[in-house]
Amino acid sequence: MARNNTPGNNPLPRIDLFSDTVTRPSAAMRRAMAEAEVGDEQKREDPTVNALVDKVCDLLGTEDALFLPSGTMANQISLRVHCSPGDEVIMDRTAHVRGYEAGGPAALSGVNVATIDGELGVFSAHQLRVLLRPKDYHFPPTRCVVLEQTANLPGGTIWPLETMEEVCAAAADAGLARHLDGARLFNAVIEAGIGAERYCALFDSVWIDFSKGLGAPVGAALAGSAEFIARAWQFKHQFGGAMRQSGIIAAGALYALEHNIDRLAEDHANARHFAALLAGCDAIQVEPVHTNMVFFSLAHAGESRASGGTERGAAAETPAQAFATAALARGVRFSVVGPKRLRAVTHLDVTRAQIEEAAQIVKQLADG
Ligand SMILES: *Cc1c(COP(=O)(O)O)cnc(C)c1O
Repeated sequence: MARNNTPGNNPLPRIDLFSDTVTRPSAAMRRAMAEAEVGDEQKREDPTVNALVDKVCDLLGTEDALFLPSGTMANQISLRVHCSPGDEVIMDRTAHVRGYEAGGPAALSGVNVATIDGELGVFSAHQLRVLLRPKDYHFPPTRCVVLEQTANLPGGTIWPLETMEEVCAAAADAGLARHLDGARLFNAVIEAGIGAERYCALFDSVWIDFSKGLGAPVGAALAGSAEFIARAWQFKHQFGGAMRQSGIIAAGALYALEHNIDRLAEDHANARHFAALLAGCDAIQVEPVHTNMVFFSLAHAGESRASGGTERGAAAETPAQAFATAALARGVRFSVVGPKRLRAVTHLDVTRAQIEEAAQIVKQLADG
């Protein structure tokens, strides 16, 4: 039964709130991809990739950038450039880099990860300073700090610029490299009304994902100084991320930057609307909405539905999993992020009407 909530095993749900990664390229985006001029990316001869890199540098205010197949690779290349085996990297406990990249920091860069318990993924300069170690050969050298904008798992939260400035200044004082996981940087840019370049200026390396809310099928761009990107190219190659006629996918990314940034505001409005519709339901606890994610918990779970099961398989299924399965049977997919906690993510392939229908289904299931 748990398979039902695993992507890949079933027909696509009618209303897919699993993640903003589920977006599919629009007809116009596909046309741009089909018609893209291409060349050998590794020789820097792909005109579409080169145009994408220029556009990314303009938007982020960086000297150089490179195109990658995924955001995970952008994070892992960055750690590899900034650190040596045995070094320590500091990040929030909920960071994607730490928990969702298959052990990459240990496997690919040989680094220790030290964690901070931030407030919804946002931590203070003081919390960072507490973790800094004195220079002594016993200790792993602290080399890098990672921030996530928006902070995904804690709620799609936005780091306030001022807090980011303080943390980055403290990191710079301590000689740490600053890395920004900007998978959803543009969600923060649109919601906070602060230009991407102002966030990016605080970091040595930043990246954005094209395959999340921006709606492209594949790709991420890693950006920074010319020197950083020159080193990053070595690991792009080493990790198998140097491509050939990748302009065909870069065209989707370019289209996304040209057409899909401002419209993220609609996703945020839809997320707030969804949360507001659930607010009146006693059986559901909705968390505050920051951008395009709505986290909600089953308030009465454990008292009825899930506690009854005596059969092993049934007992092992959490209330949130059971809820997600029931929702899927009604055509709506959520992701399960805790025993009683679920996540709905809005994106360009869900309409306001679908949001309303999804909320209706949640209420019926929760009350039923
Ligand atoms: C999705 C995500 C990543 C990884 O990006 P992929 O393109 O899926 O590899 C990294 N960090 C955060 C915060 C993410 O949400």
